[in-house]
Amino acid sequence: MPDSRHPDVLVVGGGIIGLAVAWRARLRGCSVTLLERDRVGQGTSRVAAGMLSPVAEVEFGAAGRRVLALGLRSAAMWAGFAAELQRASGVVLAPARTGALLLARDEDEARELERQLAFRRSLGLRVERLRPSEAREREPALAPTVRLALEMPDEASIDPRPVLDALRLACEHAGVRIREGAPVARVELDGDGDGARVRGVALAEGELLEAGEVVLAAGAWSGQIDGLPPAARIPVRPVKGQIMRLRDPAGPGLLRRVVRFAGGYLLPRGDGRYVLGATMEERGFELAPTAGAIHQLLRDARELVPGVSELEIEEIAVGLRPGTPDNAPALGRASSAGLIWATGHHRNGILLAPLTAELLAGILDPAAALPDAGELLAACEPSRLTAEPPALAEPFASNAGARS
Ligand SMILES: Cc1cc2nc3c(=O)[nH]c(=O)nc-3n(C[C@H](O)[C@H](O)[C@H](O)COP(=O)(O)OP(=O)(O)OC[C@H]3O[C@@H](n4cnc5c(N)ncnc54)[C@H](O)[C@@H]3O)c2cc1C
Repeated sequence: MPDSRHPDVLVVGGGIIGLAVAWRARLRGCSVTLLERDRVGQGTSRVAAGMLSPVAEVEFGAAGRRVLALGLRSAAMWAGFAAELQRASGVVLAPARTGALLLARDEDEARELERQLAFRRSLGLRVERLRPSEAREREPALAPTVRLALEMPDEASIDPRPVLDALRLACEHAGVRIREGAPVARVELDGDGDGARVRGVALAEGELLEAGEVVLAAGAWSGQIDGLPPAARIPVRPVKGQIMRLRDPAGPGLLRRVVRFAGGYLLPRGDGRYVLGATMEERGFELAPTAGAIHQLLRDARELVPGVSELEIEEIAVGLRPGTPDNAPALGRASSAGLIWATGHHRNGILLAPLTAELLAGILDPAAALPDAGELLAACEPSRLTAEPPALAEPFASNAGARS
């Protein structure tokens, strides 16, 4: 049995990343305690749409290509990850490979889509250019306003909520100790400067928990934890996303593919439920939904899929994506020994969860590392964010696609 007083690994944060890392680390034989300040699975991961969408999400620039490589690798792992998680938890998980359509509704957007098409083809990605009539043959609910469409047949999705339930159960069955209502205030170090080593963490009310390794997976709040020397800190900012959950009282059938457009996307779950998202707002830790944002999402969606007006609103939610300065994740050891970052997944934390968990388990137990772990981790090296302030970090060029 794991030693819960002094586990090998303390994981801070019970979102999809912390839970997946804790589960995989435990399966590799580590004793693991997961610390969550509220209840596990109630943070940003619960709000996410669940698109597994590396091709539609790809951004221009070197950082964008790095995220693409991670995303393609993780997308390929999702079916196996879901099957194993289902066996471990008993929760039915159904990743759906529906494909996605990226839509343009006027000449400007159509020109931008041509640019996006050329970009994706230059990367060797599977994408097909569709005339409006071809797009409407595939998705009859589309409005005649569609000017051009790109089809990405390999894109998939999964509802993150059952995944979070399953991860919690799988962690518990495997022997991960989950402590809820345990807000971590600071990381505790032995020594200072470059020689400092992490001893554990202190909870807000003062309790000290020691461990051999501490994994910081606190999502958008990862940069808020005190105690780290400047060289070990990485800047993580919250990127607000507003999103709606809708339901068709007539049942499934309005859409089969994810439909993406400038400013939004509409994702069918296959059972008559839909997710309409999402804004991208730099507003700090503000969590209030706003009438203007919701109006805009609905207006844009309705322009392309008029039937959206008939859907019932089940939920309006807000989440905070964990963003780094170059919007690529930070995965790997910090400069302080015993501290490991698993954060900064921004728009792709659901997509990247299986790969993140595998990479982190490989750091904790190098004998079990993926063969290409070195290359993949080089793309997410946390030290790139701690060196100089990345004022000149490559900006992410705007994408015609919507934001997850
Ligand atoms: C509107 C929206 C739509 C999205 N859609 C998609 C999508 O379609 N596909 C996709 O791949 N990604 C999507 N994302 C991104 C995805 O949701 C995130 O990248 C992912 O959820 C990050 O997971 P996480 O575990 O790092 O963070 P979280 O799920 O936020 O978990 C972090 C946890 O840490 C806890 N915590 C924080 N501070 C402390 C502390 N001091 N002590 C203890 N615990 C702490 C929090 O309470 C929280 O439970 C979307 C995001 C948003 C907002």
